[in-house]
Amino acid sequence: MHLPRTGQNRSEASIRQRRNKLISDKATNSSKPCVISGCDRHRYCVSTYCNTHAQRYRRYGRAKGPLPTEGELRSIEGAFKEWLDQDHLATDQQRQAFKLAWASGQKTITTNPAFALPFFRLEGNEGFTRQAKGWVILSHYFHVQRHSLSDAMLRLMAVRVWTEFFWQMPEGRRGLTKERNYFVHTWAGYYVLRNSGFTKSKTEEKIIGWERPWYISDDPARNRPKPITEKTIKKVGLTPFKAGPIVRAIGKELQGAVDHAMGTTWINDARLLKRAADALGQPHHK
Ligand SMILES: [Zn+2]
Repeated sequence: MHLPRTGQNRSEASIRQRRNKLISDKATNSSKPCVISGCDRHRYCVSTYCNTHAQRYRRYGRAKGPLPTEGELRSIEGAFKEWLDQDHLATDQQRQAFKLAWASGQKTITTNPAFALPFFRLEGNEGFTRQAKGWVILSHYFHVQRHSLSDAMLRLMAVRVWTEFFWQMPEGRRGLTKERNYFVHTWAGYYVLRNSGFTKSKTEEKIIGWERPWYISDDPARNRPKPITEKTIKKVGLTPFKAGPIVRAIGKELQGAVDHAMGTTWINDARLLKRAADALGQPHHK
């Protein structure tokens, strides 16, 4: 099994044509204002947002509005487990069926251990698809760090529940499901990336003091104090700009696993939403 790569068989003429279209689209777009009300900056690139809002959208999955905290998501996860235990699964037969379905959902995202490629392989221009890059991170998360895929699926569901309370369709955009998935996949994917240990070591030289030359020379340049340095190793992860599309690819995989295990109607369960509202200290579900 190989990691999929994007096709690179576009002709020179086609590449040129696309580039020219992009330049003209950018020019038309940048004369318009950002779609966020109250923001009067010009649009960035071909985005409907200005540079600031576009960056926020790419990094956090929404250009404006509150973001989930770790505490909120954990509270929802607790509420979800209670709901599962006390409301959703009433009989032993249901429990048994759930265990099988949940395990089979995890199987759909159990990647090949050989996909845990080192950091530099994703930095290079090897043409891996977003999904392929997502699998690389999932492999690190599961095979190298030995984290549970079940936890990652649970996190996706918690973010989905969170959106029922604190997320609204953003202004100036179309496609509710697409927008909400963009947000949910961003947060669920970052959870996996954050716990994947997918980093590189960067050596940095830090100045820890200065040494005065013992011999005072006639040459002033030689009299300057010399820095005493120490090498430190720092762990560096993917930049938020690069990580965005990759974490959303991971989120999409998690979504597939959850759909496989739970179906898609669980989110409408009033008892679950009631428990989540109580856990979040929200008066009632919006
Ligand atoms: Zn803006």
